[in-house]
Amino acid sequence: MVGRLDKKVAVITGAGRGIGEATARAMAAEGAIVVIAEKDAESGSRVAASLTDGGARSLFIETDVADSASCEAMAEGALKQFGRIDILVANAGINVFHEPLETSEEEWRRCFAVDLDGVWYSAKAVLPAMRSRKAGSVVAIASCHSFAIIPSTFPYPVAKHGLLGLVRALGVQYAADGIRVNAIAPGYIETQIAVDYWNTFADPEAERRRAYDLHPPRRIGRPEEVAMTAVFLGSDEAPFINAACIVIDGGRSVLYHE
Ligand code: NAP
Repeated sequence: MVGRLDKKVAVITGAGRGIGEATARAMAAEGAIVVIAEKDAESGSRVAASLTDGGARSLFIETDVADSASCEAMAEGALKQFGRIDILVANAGINVFHEPLETSEEEWRRCFAVDLDGVWYSAKAVLPAMRSRKAGSVVAIASCHSFAIIPSTFPYPVAKHGLLGLVRALGVQYAADGIRVNAIAPGYIETQIAVDYWNTFADPEAERRRAYDLHPPRRIGRPEEVAMTAVFLGSDEAPFINAACIVIDGGRSVLYHE
């Protein structure tokens, strides 16, 4: 059976767990060759090995997206091994949440280094190869924090707003070279970060229920639901979708509070 991403080479940053891991698994299931570009060697190599065990082609390359040289080396390694890069999912990101005036310069820089610089460095590393083949799809994982603000989550939404600007700038710039650059804005997704957060409350189950009830479907999203959209944007099924952002939040962001 021919998969929707058959033989495409997909690089996924931060694919050792969470949304990145789910995307790696979904892309491999659709026939892609998957490069796990992850900072954590243990989780990254585990995901790559499990994809290989399942019959897919996969390679782990230790990558810190906050370091442009590391991104360049990752792209070089992927090109050396597979000859081309068709898809980049710029997924690696971190939550840095503070009250604005209590945010240290280090915390401001730590957030921007991964959430904005990291997307630019990984895109910058793969775009020349995509341009030379006149084809490519970049999918950046933004957030509902890219267009709305929750107080005391600073400076994460500032970086995620910037990320949408980056996606639009690159999407417009390289469209004539056959490259599409899009964003996915997930809302509240049930990854380890969410579970860790609920566990900081005296009653984690009550906090989970509270999070579910904020959403019209009375649940939050699953990593696999973000992954499905990344597969779609990475595939040839979205040839005229460019510089766009697809929101995956169960409708929470358009809910009008009474
Ligand atoms: P996660 O479970 O924490 O996974 C992120 C992965 O990225 C981890 O494996 C992490 O490795 C890796 N990583 C962190 N910094 C890195 C770096 N500098 N270079 C390479 N890899 C790095 O996060 P997630 O919830 O799946 O989130 C993935 C993306 O979705 C992020 O961009 C996040 O902002 C966005 N998002 C998430 C949600 C949500 O509700 N979960 C909602 C909206 C948007 P370590 O374990 O070593 O740190």
